[in-house]
Amino acid sequence: MFMEQSFDFIVLGGGSAGYAAARTFNEHGATVALVDGAEELGGLCILRGCMPSKTLIYSAEVLHLAQKGSTFGFEGEMPKANLAVMHARKNEVIAEFANYRKEQIEDGRFTLFRSHGRLVDSNRVELSDGTILKAGKILISTGSTVKVPNLSGLSEVNYKTSDDVLELDSVPPECIVLGGGVVACELAQFLSRVGSQVTLLQRSPRLLKDFPEPASEALQKAMIEEGIKLELGVSLKKFNQLDENKTHVSYEINGKLKQIETTFLFLALGRSPFTSSLNLEKAGVELLPTGHINTNAFQQTSCPDVYAAGDCAGPHEIVHIAIKQGETAALHALGKKVKPINYDTLLTVVFTDPQLAVVGLSPAQLLKRGIKFLSASYPFDDHGKSILMNAKYGYVTIHAEKETGRVLGAECAGKDAGELIHSLSVAVGIQATVDDLLQADWYHPTLSEIWTYPLEDLAEEIHSPD
Ligand SMILES: Cc1cc2nc3c(=O)[nH]c(=O)nc-3n(C[C@H](O)[C@H](O)[C@H](O)COP(=O)(O)OP(=O)(O)OC[C@H]3O[C@@H](n4cnc5c(N)ncnc54)[C@H](O)[C@@H]3O)c2cc1C
Repeated sequence: MFMEQSFDFIVLGGGSAGYAAARTFNEHGATVALVDGAEELGGLCILRGCMPSKTLIYSAEVLHLAQKGSTFGFEGEMPKANLAVMHARKNEVIAEFANYRKEQIEDGRFTLFRSHGRLVDSNRVELSDGTILKAGKILISTGSTVKVPNLSGLSEVNYKTSDDVLELDSVPPECIVLGGGVVACELAQFLSRVGSQVTLLQRSPRLLKDFPEPASEALQKAMIEEGIKLELGVSLKKFNQLDENKTHVSYEINGKLKQIETTFLFLALGRSPFTSSLNLEKAGVELLPTGHINTNAFQQTSCPDVYAAGDCAGPHEIVHIAIKQGETAALHALGKKVKPINYDTLLTVVFTDPQLAVVGLSPAQLLKRGIKFLSASYPFDDHGKSILMNAKYGYVTIHAEKETGRVLGAECAGKDAGELIHSLSVAVGIQATVDDLLQADWYHPTLSEIWTYPLEDLAEEIHSPD
């Protein structure tokens, strides 16, 4: 029989959300048991998510530019990817981040248990070796796993996931990408740029269906031009493993049945919250129909002593949201005053090329709320800096409240959109107006300067006497 060990708080899962919560508990003098069952500490973002994918995507972007030497006025042999070297560089970069995070987790601020845990009730967690941990409050931050939808034959074939793509040492000559969401688009373009012949099958009629339509269009145009075959509006029918290496996929498009074979089937149809083995029912913790843990705006679940944060709680699989949720949960559990989570200023970036970035409320959300607003846009193919960089895909748009000029949302599709969106993210975050933004200096010639065109259009319209 194992003794019970008591703490003020237990954090189950030491990724972005769990670490943020544990750190916050510690900063307020509380004792924390941090439980993580992974072989390697660090969480998805550092080990198999944001950081490794962006390292490889940046390598592929540099390669892509180098291959366009003739456009920029230099010549030489056409450079090509050496994936083993790219992979090694990625591992080196990631090891540094992972070691730093491991040091932070192991520096003695928390009592670390390298074990899987599951709930016994609303105040106790059982570890794999039978140890029982007890606390006033528990935070669940167990993340997510790759979703394998219930499609005929899919679970029996040799599919690859984003984990496999991030570990490639050689380029698959061809591949089929299933899905048109963020991870599917980012890694499909990466695979194409390092030399794979990519076919992407997407159920919706456009890529990134949750993003503004013109942003999807700009990306689709660029991807097609780079040689990616996009099959949109597809219904996946059946998967068969033909031999050890070959998978057969049948799908319907425009009412016609198509057959295709591949040696590299990349399953990128999203992720599912990782909650199945947690015994949530023992604490009365309820799930949403999506499988996410149901929480209020302070990340408190249907059981008041149990909180949830990060991918397991959703609704957005984004690191800064996971961190914010972890901190909010911890402060609320500590009884501190804390603002409820609000997604009205949500910032999202897709690291394709062109990059896509949105912040704040979309026109659909504004209409739904009955907010009167004005929108103004400007294209990158008419902007000095993007023209001289030959980065002419995409546009920027700003949505502002009609009455006050307050900036409520913005969109950007284009070169480095993920950087450019931040000036507008600040505006949305501090509730700045169009006039406030026009008081700032915007340096010439920069990509950022493009925002001044829609800002000036909006200012003119807002101040016009009607
Ligand atoms: C390829 C890819 C690229 C991405 N790129 C970006 C990006 O550019 N920007 C961005 O914002 N987001 C990105 N994301 C999403 C982002 O990585 C996640 O939203 C974020 O890492 C989730 O953090 P988390 O703390 O919820 O979960 P995780 O970091 O997954 O942490 C969960 C932890 O819980 C542990 N655990 C699970 N079950 C148990 C248990 N029963 N007991 C003990 N421990 C357990 C796991 O070992 C793990 O360490 C990307 C994701 C992928 C897959």
